[in-house]
Amino acid sequence: MEMKDIVIIGGGPAGLAAGLYAARAALDVVLIEQGALGGQAAGTERIENYPGFEEGIGGPELARRMDVQARRFGLNVLDANVQRLLRMENGFAVRTGEGEIVTRAVILASGTQPGKLGIKGEEELHGLGVSFCATCDGAFFKGRTVAVVGGGDAAVEEAIFLTRFAEKVYIIHRRGELRATKVLQERARRNPRIEFIWHSVVEEILGAYFVEGIRVKNVQSGDVEEIKVDGVFLYVGTRPNAGLVRDLVKLDDQGYVITDENMATSCPGLFAAGDVRKKLLRQVVTAVADGATAAVAAEKYLESIAR
Ligand SMILES: Cc1cc2nc3c(=O)[nH]c(=O)nc-3n(C[C@H](O)[C@H](O)[C@H](O)COP(=O)(O)OP(=O)(O)OC[C@H]3O[C@@H](n4cnc5c(N)ncnc54)[C@H](O)[C@@H]3O)c2cc1C
Repeated sequence: MEMKDIVIIGGGPAGLAAGLYAARAALDVVLIEQGALGGQAAGTERIENYPGFEEGIGGPELARRMDVQARRFGLNVLDANVQRLLRMENGFAVRTGEGEIVTRAVILASGTQPGKLGIKGEEELHGLGVSFCATCDGAFFKGRTVAVVGGGDAAVEEAIFLTRFAEKVYIIHRRGELRATKVLQERARRNPRIEFIWHSVVEEILGAYFVEGIRVKNVQSGDVEEIKVDGVFLYVGTRPNAGLVRDLVKLDDQGYVITDENMATSCPGLFAAGDVRKKLLRQVVTAVADGATAAVAAEKYLESIAR
């Protein structure tokens, strides 16, 4: 089997940037993506803070441009799910649903997945009013009432987006103030369709066949109330997609991959980039920077083992 220089796992912003740099450096590289290219960025309605787009840019459009740009330099993209990653004497074996690829170096750019509340109704009503993607499902809630759970950038951004469709949007947050950036907070506060429910957690999502309401508990007073909603959008943190490397590299206590400043993990030849790694800021701008750095670091690694 032909040995690749680099296999990139994941085709979000980090993977696509790594692919662009590696392909442009004329390395033999393949990027493996299980779903749509662009990752979480492609599922974001509008990205306002990626430099170079003064009016902002739609997430799907930014993802499309990254894809076209990387392929222009000859990046190969394989549509497959990576199921296992094995360390070999001279590299790695990457097992996918489509077969096995061997490679000297790997860049893990597998991102994160939405955190779960672990409450009754969350799994049962997923797709029946419970959603993790306002961009995908918002339009189903025209004239309806929805709840957004969370207080970070993603929650507030998506709540504002949902007011385009929904008559009323509750933002339910366990604390008394938001974590989201000030500009988003102000925009949400000014929006007449948004109502905040502070110091509160959702205990149960109600409904027999689709979402009909939520049971909310005020964590200060202990009061519990039922609120009628047609949809619930959950933005309660993220979990790293790091299962593939669990036994190969050092992870932090939340399961994020620990790297040095060159994106090298504790396993030689295995690099990590983007949201999957332990870092301060998980955004497109840092994901692409990580991807570029990982590609150049992997190139240096390949040179070092060839000597
Ligand atoms: C609702 C929301 C709004 C956001 N808004 C903004 C914003 O306004 N500005 C901003 O800068 N950032 C925003 N972000 C964050 C931004 O989207 C992420 O930081 C960025 O997408 C991270 O890129 P990534 O490539 O590291 O990971 P991801 O985008 O998560 O991509 C990882 C990719 O890896 C693939 N993958 C995972 N495991 C496997 C496997 N085993 N085999 C094959 N493929 C695999 C996944 O399918 C996915 O496509 C937002 C995120 C969300 C959820």
